[in-house]
Formats: sequence, C-alpha cells, structure tokens
Amino acid sequence: NNDLAGKDVTVLGLGKFGGGVATVRFLAERGARVTVIDAKSAQALQDSLQKLEDCPEVTFQLGDQSPELTDIDLLVVNPAIPPGHALLRNATQQRIPVSSEIELFWQLNPGRVIGVTGSNGKSTTTAMIYNLLQAAGQRCWLGGNIGISLLPELEQIQSEDWVVLELSSFQLEALNRIQVSPQIAVVTNFSPNHLDWHQALTHYRQAKQTIMRWQNETDVAVLNQDDLELQTWQTPGDIFYFGTHAELAPDLFVDQDQFQFKDQKLALSPELEVPGSHNRWNAAAAILACRAAGIADHALKQGLESFTGLPHRLEFLGEFQQRKFYNDSLATTPESVICALEAFHNNPVILLAGGSNKQVDLTKFVEKLLTGTKATALMGQTGKLMHELLQERQDAIQESELAVMSLPQTSFEAAFDWAFQQSAPGDVILLSPGCASYDWFSSFVERGERFTALFRQLSDGV
Ligand code: ADP
Repeated sequence: NNDLAGKDVTVLGLGKFGGGVATVRFLAERGARVTVIDAKSAQALQDSLQKLEDCPEVTFQLGDQSPELTDIDLLVVNPAIPPGHALLRNATQQRIPVSSEIELFWQLNPGRVIGVTGSNGKSTTTAMIYNLLQAAGQRCWLGGNIGISLLPELEQIQSEDWVVLELSSFQLEALNRIQVSPQIAVVTNFSPNHLDWHQALTHYRQAKQTIMRWQNETDVAVLNQDDLELQTWQTPGDIFYFGTHAELAPDLFVDQDQFQFKDQKLALSPELEVPGSHNRWNAAAAILACRAAGIADHALKQGLESFTGLPHRLEFLGEFQQRKFYNDSLATTPESVICALEAFHNNPVILLAGGSNKQVDLTKFVEKLLTGTKATALMGQTGKLMHELLQERQDAIQESELAVMSLPQTSFEAAFDWAFQQSAPGDVILLSPGCASYDWFSSFVERGERFTALFRQLSDGV
C-alpha cells in the first residue's frame, strides 16, 4: 500500500503475541515512520523488541503511562486496548484516522474470507475449518484472533484462496468501522461474555453481529439453531443452521452418532478424535462452512477424522497399544477437568492431575475423580491435598475401585509411567491437571510439551 510511504503512524500497544510486531513490521516495510507506544517497559516487551531489531524507522515510547499524540497521519490500535483509552479519544478529537491489524489486513487481502465468532469454541471451529479445507486440497490460510497475523503472508494470498479467521468481538468492532463482513460467517453460539469491556450486552451483540452486518446476497451465514439468540439474526444471504433438535429441521442435524444433512439421505459418521458434545457442535459448524465453500461431502470425512484439536486443549496426541493419549495441559481449574472427564464419559480414563496450589476448593474435583476416572496420579502440592481428601473417602474408593497414586515429590515422568502401567487397551490417558503448573514447570505449555514428549518416546520405543 503506497499510501503509507512517508506517513507518520503510531502503533498503540506492541504486546507479546505477534500481532503488534507484525503490524509494526508491515507499516515500516511500506515506508511509514512508525512510533510504538506501550505502557509496558522495554524489559517486559523484550521478546517483541528483539523481533523488530532489524526494522528501520521505528521509534519506541515505552513505559509511558500518559502518552500524547502529536501530528500523526494514522493511529493503529492493538485489540487489547480498551475503547475508552485516552489516546483513542485524543485521536477522535484531532480527527486522526484509526485502524488495527485486522483492518490493515482486510483492506489488502485478495482472498475469500471465512470468519468465525461466538462466545465459546471459536478457536476450535476455526482450526477445524482450516483442517477440512486443507484435507480437501484447497489453498487456505489460518489467522486472526487464534494468535496468527496474516499481514506477512499478504503477498502470497491469491483471490481463489480461503482465508479462515477467528474474529473476536474486539476485531469485529474494527471491521464495523470499515463496513466489511466475511463471505462465509460462522457463529458458534452467543452468551454474554466480556461485559467488563463492552459495558453492556447490546454492545456485545452489536459487535458480534458485524460478522453478518455487511454481507450481501451471495454471502452465507452458518448459525447454531439451538441458540435462541442466534435464531433471530438476519443476513441478506443464505443462512444454514446446525442443531440438535430434529423437529426444528436444521440444515445439519447433529447427535452422538451422525451428522445428517436435511437435503440428503446419507449421513456423515466420522470418528472424531476430539472428544465431547461441544466438539460435535463445532464440527457441525465447520461442515456447513466448508460445504458453503464448495467442499464435497466425501472430502469432509477425512478432514474431520484427522483433526487432533488445538495444542494443550484436549489435544489428541495419538494411540499406543490401543490407549489414546490426550494433552489438556491448559486445564488449570477444577471446572475444566470436570468438563474434560465428562467429554470422555464413554471411556475409562487414567488421569494425571494436580500441580501448584491456587487455593481453590477441591471438593468437587475429588468427587469427580471417584466417578469419572479409573486411576488418578496426583501430582505436586494440590495432588497431596487431593490425596488427603480422598483418604477420607475410603468407602467410595473401594466401591468405585479407583486406583490412586500420590506423587507429591516425585517426577512427572514417574506419574506418566504409573499411569501407563494402570491402563488397559481401550483406555484414555489424560493429562488434565486442574491446577497451575508452576511447581514443576515454567508454564502449562512446558508441561504439555513434556507430556507430549513422553508419549512420543513411549510410542517410538525410544
Ligand atoms: P474460544 O476460542 O471461543 O475461547 P476454544 O475453541 O478455544 O474457544 O475452546 C475453549 C473451551 O471452550 C474448550 O476447552 C471447551 O471447554 C469449551 N468449548 C469449546 N467449544 C464449545 C462450544 N461449542 N460450546 C461450549 N463450550 C465450548
């Protein structure tokens, strides 16, 4: 974009997750004089700054708590900046145009966009759609709120390509500014969320509805029919509904066994590796989106079956001696483990749980271990506490025949080995700690990677 050459552009919010860095580089490479303003110190932003070391014409104003704008041509705002930020008001007063990473991308993107939003399941559905398109041999790209900026890829994207974007409500507000919506819009569900940011439900709804607001007659929306709110959403194009109520005649009916299209006798019965009903709904949304993108039904099955989930979120690692291994290291609360165990209610589960103590109530967690697992390795500080709670329940333990192993001091490897010894063909071996990781690891990512490495060692026979 030649418009940027020689312009003074301020980027508000560099951040640590790639979007800010990609934005600065994009602007600088197009000849803009870039100033980065961030309330965080250079030390806190070290990783991002390193990635910009070779970038010319960038000035940094870091650690500044009350910055001001003087005489600039464009303000590019990080989605993490709240709309009430003083600099945004300042920009409006001075009539300085405001943009964001997603707007810069959208204005130059030649590809066709499939956009996904919703209150839950956005990332999973987005990744599933991408996997389905790839399996069907389509040229496609994955980006947006899922943590990937596609600005560096702009030159490679062609007009026939599919660009699959997870869109947060923050990004959708930005798209409303430039009055654009994706050709295929997917909404997984709608429930009040992030109300601290949006202040009111109407704002949240308006932001989310941007995904369809600027569509035209040839565009398509894929909506969850079970969601009463979404039943009322409109677009000039076609709407395809997925749902679990056969009597409402959804375009795609989904239950525990199949995905049944309204207009076809044959149903799709893929074996999904991602567990739980919620993933069947996400798959239904993905199927309808890909069908709208012209993917044939026979190509969908393979894409659905090869999808292993997002890293560290009930991610399917593989199978060894008929045991399936899942990495759910991101589960750092008891509630998320309870969800995970419910997703596996049809399989015997050997669980690896516990970690550092966040002082939460562990009673429900312990109850769930009794009914939802066949064996549980209890690790770290909370593992010890849960073991004590369990010992008060000897009767229940005997009744459920639960095998419990407390490994407060020993290693993660010991817990893994014990879990494998307890397992039989057909079992699921699940890392879903329900606790933070800081006693044994630097983060949940390191914990999940260690588990993955142990699985690979085992299955590769190293
Ligand atoms: P998001 O990107 O919207 O935060 P994710 O796909 O990352 O959603 O899933 C996050 C968690 O939300 C999952 O671990 C799961 O527990 C839950 N979840 C996923 N899909 C759905 C869904 N369709 N409905 C309700 N909850 C879901």
